[in-house]
Amino acid sequence: MTDLLTLAEYTSIAEKLTPPSDSFINGGFRPSSNGAKIVVTNPATGAHITDIAACTAEDVDFAVSKARDAFESGVWSKKHPSERKRILLKLCDLIEENATELAVMESIDSGKPIADCVNIDISEVIHTLSWHAELMDKIYDQTAPVGNDAMAMIVREPVGVVGAVLPWNFPILMLAWKMAPSLAAGCSVVLKPAAQTSLTALRVAELAYQAGVPAGVFNVITGSGKEVGEAIGRHMDVDMVTFTGSTATGRRFLGYSAESNIKEVVLELGGKNPCIVLDDAEDIDTVAEQVVAAAFWNMGENCSAGSRLIVQSGIKDELLSHIVKHSKEWKTGNPLDPSNQLGCLVDTNHFSKVAEYLDIAKEDKHKLILGGETVDGRYVMPTIYDGVKNTDRLAVEEIFGPVLSVITVDSYEEAIAVANDTEYGLAASIFSANSKKSLRAARELKAGTVTVNCFGEGDISTPFGGYKQSGFGGRDNSIHAHDQFTQLKTIWVDLSE
Ligand code: NAP
Ligand code: MG
Repeated sequence: MTDLLTLAEYTSIAEKLTPPSDSFINGGFRPSSNGAKIVVTNPATGAHITDIAACTAEDVDFAVSKARDAFESGVWSKKHPSERKRILLKLCDLIEENATELAVMESIDSGKPIADCVNIDISEVIHTLSWHAELMDKIYDQTAPVGNDAMAMIVREPVGVVGAVLPWNFPILMLAWKMAPSLAAGCSVVLKPAAQTSLTALRVAELAYQAGVPAGVFNVITGSGKEVGEAIGRHMDVDMVTFTGSTATGRRFLGYSAESNIKEVVLELGGKNPCIVLDDAEDIDTVAEQVVAAAFWNMGENCSAGSRLIVQSGIKDELLSHIVKHSKEWKTGNPLDPSNQLGCLVDTNHFSKVAEYLDIAKEDKHKLILGGETVDGRYVMPTIYDGVKNTDRLAVEEIFGPVLSVITVDSYEEAIAVANDTEYGLAASIFSANSKKSLRAARELKAGTVTVNCFGEGDISTPFGGYKQSGFGGRDNSIHAHDQFTQLKTIWVDLSE
């Protein structure tokens, strides 16, 4: 854990920031071809931060052509793996040197609490980049069992030009999840951050260039999804797209690929994740702490948020009293105040979307047991509804805010059935003292990550991604992330006499 500064110190750093504005393409900053801009404001205050380039399809063409030139030249793709590793580790050092500035930039751009930006997001970015950099000179290809008359090598080659399109909820961390394995594998990248949260991506691109990533290899192009995202998705010279965001947009990327060059597509999408607590769960206070973190961490703006609490009737009242107690410990307020665990929502549009669910809950007469209030048109207080049915909108739709729905069940079998009765399958948690039952649940839950007696997302060494409509085509993190950015080639050599 890094020692945190004071609110006054973070505020003063924020005031002195000179955030980037133009896109970073081919080793330098560049405005959009038509000069258009997107206004960037601090979601906690409404204050103007900067204007970023609203790039166009023409700008995407330019970035992709530079990425292609860099890829084909071999300046990065054919560099010795240990050399790519050295440069990416240098980038880690530069991020470390600029960690406070990056954390403050992330916080004022997204509304995320500074303590998380410092101790989770930035430190995980460094961990992710260094992990993939270190992997590069330690993995081997294969030979196939084809007998004595031939030798067949199965080699992995970088996929080529990668398009990456990011969401706004973990801006710099999602950047690292895509950037680290793709660059380590030798690809060139054209990355679009979410329009609301582009600042840290631009700064990291500048630092990557400074670390020695050659011009054209890592490009950050800002703008809207409709213009820049779609142009990347449909580009005939982009070899694959890695996308994190909503299921609706992910579906579009499959269409773009089908209608263009059949590019590879990897999708990390939404979730409506169950936290199951059975009657025999032990240490209810700790269970409650975990359920609260699952529901409210990052203001619930988390694809793997445990937004459905599925609790067995015998333990429900006791559990809810502990949950309410712990929820009250999560202070919501100024994102730059290091004593706050929760900041504001990412922008006023998203705030309105989340606030609508509070109205729906009122109409549906769900029993409010905590929160239900908003502050300033920017903050939503941690909110818990009891008496929710799994078919209610609160339990079906991804709210992406700090709203927990409590669903009561009578048995283990009902808990599993309700948990799996969703179109999503990103994450799930099970709390039970019966280890055989909880491991059986881990096998029966249809989700990419199942945590037992805790909430979490694994770590950099474990794959992250979804079953069902939560994902497609691959996994982020771990050695499996590397697979997305490489393709297999068979080299067959005749050895017959
Ligand atoms: P989103 O609306 O799908 O946006 C994600 C990205 O796609 C943004 O960069 C967006 O651009 C772009 N985009 C939007 N419309 C597009 C289009 N028609 N064509 C091409 N690109 C387009 O998602 P969001 O609201 O930003 O993020 C929240 C979602 O992400 C949630 O559903 C959450 O569950 C999911 N998520 C999933 C994971 C995971 O790993 N599974 C992790 C984090 C978040 P703009 O700049 O215009 O918005
Ligand atoms: Mg969006």
